[in-house]
Amino acid sequence: MITTTNPATGETIAEYETLDENGIDAKLEAAARTYRDWRTSPLDKRTAVLSKLGNLYQGNTEELAKLAVTEMGKPITQARAEAEKCASLLHYYAEHGPPMLESKFWDLSDGGRAEGRWLPQGPVLAVMPWNFPYWQVIRFLAPTILAGNVGVLKHASIVQGVAARMEELVLEAGGPEGLFQNLCVSSDPIGSVIDDDRVVAATLTGSEGAGSAVAERAGKNLKKVVLELGGSDPFIVMPSADIDKAVEDAVTARIQNNGQSCICGKRTIVHANVYDDFADRFIAALKEAKLGDPMEEDTDLGPLSSEGQRDTVLKQVDKAKQEGCTLLFGAEKLDRPGAWMTAGLLTDVPLASETGTDEIFGPVGQLYKAKDIDEATTIANAIPYGLGSAVFTNDDDEKEHFANAIEAGMTTFNAVNGSKIEAPFGGIKRSGHGRELAEFGLHEFMNLKTLVHP
Ligand code: NAP
Repeated sequence: MITTTNPATGETIAEYETLDENGIDAKLEAAARTYRDWRTSPLDKRTAVLSKLGNLYQGNTEELAKLAVTEMGKPITQARAEAEKCASLLHYYAEHGPPMLESKFWDLSDGGRAEGRWLPQGPVLAVMPWNFPYWQVIRFLAPTILAGNVGVLKHASIVQGVAARMEELVLEAGGPEGLFQNLCVSSDPIGSVIDDDRVVAATLTGSEGAGSAVAERAGKNLKKVVLELGGSDPFIVMPSADIDKAVEDAVTARIQNNGQSCICGKRTIVHANVYDDFADRFIAALKEAKLGDPMEEDTDLGPLSSEGQRDTVLKQVDKAKQEGCTLLFGAEKLDRPGAWMTAGLLTDVPLASETGTDEIFGPVGQLYKAKDIDEATTIANAIPYGLGSAVFTNDDDEKEHFANAIEAGMTTFNAVNGSKIEAPFGGIKRSGHGRELAEFGLHEFMNLKTLVHP
């Protein structure tokens, strides 16, 4: 049994019966059966499902947003934006995806011709987190449907209502039964799902620990994995930046999704020439962020996703103090039911410390002063992760420097870093490997079959 809890109130929302071995087997059988037809389905049938599903995400934004807020506590305005982003991605793949599946041709030196044809491979397992409970799944599902593959979802336990609704929506969009199924299970049986011959590959978005467990099992079975893991993204501010915008974006970057985004700007690194000015304004703006009911329109910061998650962050703050970091303000547990804490900011963080190298998945930032561009780069890269990054500068040479020097899958200039529906997304180092979105995400679980015509 999985119980979901509203993190804003601490109240139980619902209980879900988990699937037993037979239940899992039935779902995998349905996936394999559906794949046999779906793999050769005409492209316009696949794009029709994507378009209808996109319309459903658009038409049901309010209902979907409220469900996510209730289960994981993100502010309602951000939950709506997430549902709308899902709709945009579904429409994007429906419209722009088919050309990405066209064959490539090569003239051969022996006079023949080779064709590279994109073919589907079968049911793919997606293990997904709660923080963007729709978006992370749609980022996997849209290309899966277009590719001719089918998907089985192991969603985070705390968002089982979202998971069940997502399965329903695919059916409402005209997807055949078995095209996308939710496995209502804890993580315990996931190893045996990966072992199952009917599952051809796995993708996981989540923590390093879960990524490593899934990758290990997939590796044993010689199955491909895509891993979208954690990060501790740098947010760099150089003297030529528009400081007003940098301050505003640094706050958004740190507290978006209640501080629980893989690509939050978690470490704010500021050039010494503008440090004092920036720091004063950043601290003031972070303190002003409105903490409150996530269902309210003007809430900036709601509860964390669970009391366990909140307690993990508070423990990290205690550890930071032991390691010699200074807590400038905040990071306090609120004495009320639910998973509440205030935003906070750490400084004097030793680079090699646990605090300096771990991901803090909650609204507690880290502020660093860099004497020059080289030190800013050193701090940016002094982590085991390599997911996203943001750089605020109006100097083209500096942009070029950071474009090449920051060890990350993505760098955004003069704006909050975020995934774009049209562009590839993914990390390096301990943030994982593989890419989602664009043609790279579409091709990850496809067979590029070479056909040789003499
Ligand atoms: P998590 O604890 O790793 O959970 C993610 C998913 O993995 C959940 O469905 C979870 O199931 C499952 N899981 C946990 N341990 C497992 C295991 N040993 N074997 C198989 N499945 C397992 O992560 P989270 O707390 O939900 O999410 C936060 C993390 O995700 C952060 O590190 C964040 O940076 C990262 N993230 C990365 C991206 C990206 O795109 N790179 C995006 C979002 C989040 P249960 O819920 O049942 O435990």
